Amino acid sequence: MTAHYLPNNLPTHIQHYIDGKFVESVGGETFDVLDPVSNANYATAAAGQKADIDLAVAAASEAFINGPWPRMKPRERSRVLNKIADAVEAQESRLAELESFDSGLPITQARGQALRAAENFRFFADLIVAQFDDAMKVPGTQINYVNRKPIGVAGLITPWNTPFMLESWKLAPALASGCTVVLKPAEFTPLSASLWATIFEEAGLPHGVFNLVNGLGEDAGDALVKHPDVPLISFTGETTTGQTIFRNAAANLKGLSMELGGKSPCVVFADADVDAAIDSALFGVFSLNGERCTAGSRILVERSIYDDFCEKFAARARNIVVGDPHDPATEVGALVHPEHYNKVMSYVEIGKSEGRLLAGGGRPEGLDTGNYVSPTVFADVSPDARIFQEEIFGPVVAITPFENDDEALALANGVKYGLAAYIWTNNLTRAHNFAQSVEAGMVWLNSHNVRDLRTPFGGVKASGLGHEGGFRSIDFYTDQQAVHITLGTVHTPKFGASAAN
Ligand code: NAD
Repeated sequence: MTAHYLPNNLPTHIQHYIDGKFVESVGGETFDVLDPVSNANYATAAAGQKADIDLAVAAASEAFINGPWPRMKPRERSRVLNKIADAVEAQESRLAELESFDSGLPITQARGQALRAAENFRFFADLIVAQFDDAMKVPGTQINYVNRKPIGVAGLITPWNTPFMLESWKLAPALASGCTVVLKPAEFTPLSASLWATIFEEAGLPHGVFNLVNGLGEDAGDALVKHPDVPLISFTGETTTGQTIFRNAAANLKGLSMELGGKSPCVVFADADVDAAIDSALFGVFSLNGERCTAGSRILVERSIYDDFCEKFAARARNIVVGDPHDPATEVGALVHPEHYNKVMSYVEIGKSEGRLLAGGGRPEGLDTGNYVSPTVFADVSPDARIFQEEIFGPVVAITPFENDDEALALANGVKYGLAAYIWTNNLTRAHNFAQSVEAGMVWLNSHNVRDLRTPFGGVKASGLGHEGGFRSIDFYTDQQAVHITLGTVHTPKFGASAAN
C-alpha cells in the first residue's frame, strides 16, 4: 500500500470566524479532529458553546440591522456572489484534497463537489438579478404589491457528507437573499468550512455577514437553534436530529427547512435497459462511499430478471476499487469516522441474517486500518428487515424481488422515508404512473441523481420538511410582506358614530 497522503500546509488547529476575525472559543474549549484513513487526530478545533454562538449571532444581527448587505441592490450582491464562485473554482484542487482528506471521499468525487459549490453561487447570483415580485390591482379601489425582505440571521447546520458543497447549498441562497448567517458545520469534518472565511473576505462580503462556529451539535448547534435572535434554521442531517431541532425551535416559532435521511428505492422493471440500470444503481448506492442522502439503497427488481440482475450487479460490486481516498483510481474511499464505520459494520452483520450475501460483507482485503468497508450486496431481503427499513448511510444495498407494479409500489412506499426514487422502465405510461404514485420528494426516470438547480429539492415523510431549490430557497430566506394601497375614497363602517350619542 502507498503511504497515506497528507495535503500540504494542513492546519493543526481550526478556529471559529466571528465578525471578520478568526477566534478561539470564549472558554478555550476544543475537540479533536481525525482523518478517516489513519484515524489519527491531525488537528484540534475550537468547540463552540453558547457564549460563542451568542457572539456570532450578535455580529450577524449587527450586520443585518446596521450593515450594508441586506440593503444592497441585487446586482451588487450578485457581483460579490460571482466573485465567490470564481474563488471557489480557483481553489478547486486545494479544496478537493482537503475535503477528500477530511471526509474520506474519493478525490475524483471530491473534485466535482467544489465545482458544484461554485455553481450554486453563480445560480443564486443570476436568480436575484432576474427576480421580481407580484403586484395586484383591484381597478379603482386598491393596488397591492409584495415587498420582499430578507428575514434576518439564518442559522445553518450541516452534515459531514460532502460538507463544503452542502454548506454552499445554504450559504448561497441565504446570502443572495440578503440574510446574514451563522454556520455550524459538522464536527466530523470541520476542515473545509474555514476556507469560506477567506473566500468571502476576498470577494468583499462585509464583516459580520458570515460567521462560523465549530463545535458539537448538542452544544453549538443546540445554542444556535435556541437563540431568540435567529428566526430561521436550515438543517441537513439525520431525521432524529431534525426531530430534536423541531422541538427546540418551537419555543421561538422559527422558520425551519429540514433535509433529512432517506432509504430510497431504485425500481427496475423487466422492460428497462438493464445494463444502464445496473450502471446507475451501482453508482447510486456506492458513489460518495454510500454516504449519500439520496442513495438508492433498496433495489427492487422484477422477478423475471431478478436472478440475472443480482448476479451481474454483485459481480460489478465485487470489482469496485476500494482504497485510499487520494488515489484517483479509488471508487469507494474510507468512511468518515470510526463511530460511523462501526454503525455501518453493525448493519453488515445484521444483514447477514436478513439477506443472502452476494458481495462484500466486511473489510476489504489488504486494508487493515482505516474506515474501509467493502461494497456489500444483500439479495432476497424481506421488506420488514432492518436493512430494508433503516438508513445505513454506507456502501450497503438490499435487493428485493417484485412480481408486478402494485407490489413494486407497495415495497417502494413501505418505509418511513420519502426522499428520492429511481425508476427504470421503457414503458412511458408505467413510468409516469409509478413516478406520480411513489412517495418521494424527487423521482428520476431512467437516471441516477442528476439535478437541475431550478428544480425543487427535498423529501416527504421522515425525509424532510419544505422544499428548497431555485426560487423556493429565496422564499425560505425572505418574507413576502403584502402592502395594500387604497385608491380613491376609503369606505369604512363608522363605529361610534350613531345618533344615540
Ligand atoms: P447529524 O444529524 O448527526 O448531524 C448534522 C448536523 O446537526 C451536525 O452539524 C451536528 O453537529 C448537528 N447537530 C446534532 N445534534 C444537534 C442538536 N441537538 N441541535 C442542533 N444541531 C445538532 O447528521 P450527520 O450524521 O452529520 O449526516 C448524515 C445524515 O444527513 C443522514 O441521515 C443523511 O441522509 C442526512 N442528509 C440529508 C440530506 C438531504 O438533503 N436530505 C443531505 C445530506 C445528508
